[in-house]
Amino acid sequence: MASDLFNGRLEDVKFTQLFVNGSFVDSLSGKTFQTIDPRTGDVIAAVAEGTKEDVDAAVQAARHAFDSGPWPRFPGSERGRILMKLADLIDQNAEELAALDAIDAGKLYRWSKTEISSVANMLRYYAGAADKIHGEVLKMSREFHAYTLLEPIGVVGHIIPWNFPSTMFFAKVSPSLAAGCTMVVKPAEQTPLSALFYAHLAKLAGIPDGVLNVITGFGPTAGAAISSHMDIDKVSFTGSTQVGREVMQAAAKSNLKQVSLELGGKSPIIIFDDADVDKAVELALIGVLYNKGEICAAGSRVFVQEGIYDEFEKKLVQKAKAWAVGDPFDPNVQQGPQVDKKQFEKILSYIEHGKREGATLLTGGKAVGNRGYYIEPTVFINVEEDMVIAQDEIFGPVMVLMKFKTMEEAIKSANNTKYGLAAGIVTKNIDIANTVSRSIRAGTIWINCYFAFGDDVPFGGYKMSGFGKEHGMEAVHKYLQVKSVVTPIYNSPWL
Ligand code: ADP
Repeated sequence: MASDLFNGRLEDVKFTQLFVNGSFVDSLSGKTFQTIDPRTGDVIAAVAEGTKEDVDAAVQAARHAFDSGPWPRFPGSERGRILMKLADLIDQNAEELAALDAIDAGKLYRWSKTEISSVANMLRYYAGAADKIHGEVLKMSREFHAYTLLEPIGVVGHIIPWNFPSTMFFAKVSPSLAAGCTMVVKPAEQTPLSALFYAHLAKLAGIPDGVLNVITGFGPTAGAAISSHMDIDKVSFTGSTQVGREVMQAAAKSNLKQVSLELGGKSPIIIFDDADVDKAVELALIGVLYNKGEICAAGSRVFVQEGIYDEFEKKLVQKAKAWAVGDPFDPNVQQGPQVDKKQFEKILSYIEHGKREGATLLTGGKAVGNRGYYIEPTVFINVEEDMVIAQDEIFGPVMVLMKFKTMEEAIKSANNTKYGLAAGIVTKNIDIANTVSRSIRAGTIWINCYFAFGDDVPFGGYKMSGFGKEHGMEAVHKYLQVKSVVTPIYNSPWL
């Protein structure tokens, strides 16, 4: 049983050092930090604390691997073969990897296992893309012709959040590896463990030394050293909007490296009168409770049309009260603990704020148990659109439920946010579905479904949810740059 792997036995965590130039090493300062089990608040392991000097060493290795190593020069098919091998190694170690994310991030073990097999498939998608990267032949209007080369952008810095330690790692690492880049990855300080395991597997798969470096450590030190580095060509960040802004500023102030940002959200789910109420309740609950609400695309604002509102509210409360919160290794549990004490306290303080603002707590609102970081599924009603709980990303199991009359009113309310990551629409009416999906300013629209992600479906924000897509071929192009090559067709004077 994978859960037995982590019954408080620290020796079960195999990789706790930085991964630089193909080797596990202590941080140059020798410092470590503790990663905590959110089920109990106990320490899981001490992990190397990388700082600017470690980032410098990793960038140096990545630069050398890019300028002189085989990775960018391999035929794409060879990169693809190695990525396929890495995918197989991930599948072979899925239980242990899933347990690492479950214990480090409080994710449900069974969902974590699904996530691990999805990241293996994501790698396979990009392995298949690696030999299909090519430019275009262009017909110039004069006696010339031109073509474009798509070249890997160089050394990439990836800054990863804690809510999906494996998916976010591979959403960034796989397309950039396929493109031929080399990289320095900084996992979140709350969830460093699986990334180090992936570094070990990458070496076994045959990824050359220096191509993939992993520096564990804190945001303001190791993270900031990446975004302000003079020899990193691109930074890809997923996390809060506030830190995204800092990353972009640091990039601008240093070497103008390219930036892509996948940031926060306050996504609406709009449920129309013709919806099947039971199904709509399920969808709305999963929309806000999946991964205990710690997901940027959470459908945390739910708008229900007045004709079905009362029935929806009644059924929602019943289901929310029956939602099982508890140990993420228990197969009957639907929601584990929040990632850490800070996030747990932040969510509870938003709930208090909501009450003070005058919203009504329909259900939930309290911590569960007196150990670990568990919070009840929480629903607020009597919410005004300008309240803090209706505007801020809470990143927890907290829904604001609102009633609407007309489609036009729903569109206006749904767009009343600085964010634009995703939206859900529940209706059988194709005209409503088409009109609303074109009217919402968000990067992904799910009609009669939610969280329907796909390796080939681009995902990313509008407005202050960021820019640059993850998934799909768009993600490969994020790590490529276009070079134009022009030559005369005949051996003729060129002017
Ligand atoms: P949250 O606020 O939800 O914890 P963050 O946006 O702070 O999310 O964290 C996402 C990632 O960004 C983490 O890997 C974190 O270490 C990193 N990070 C935090 N602050 C900075 C910073 N100033 N510069 C670069 N990276 C940072």
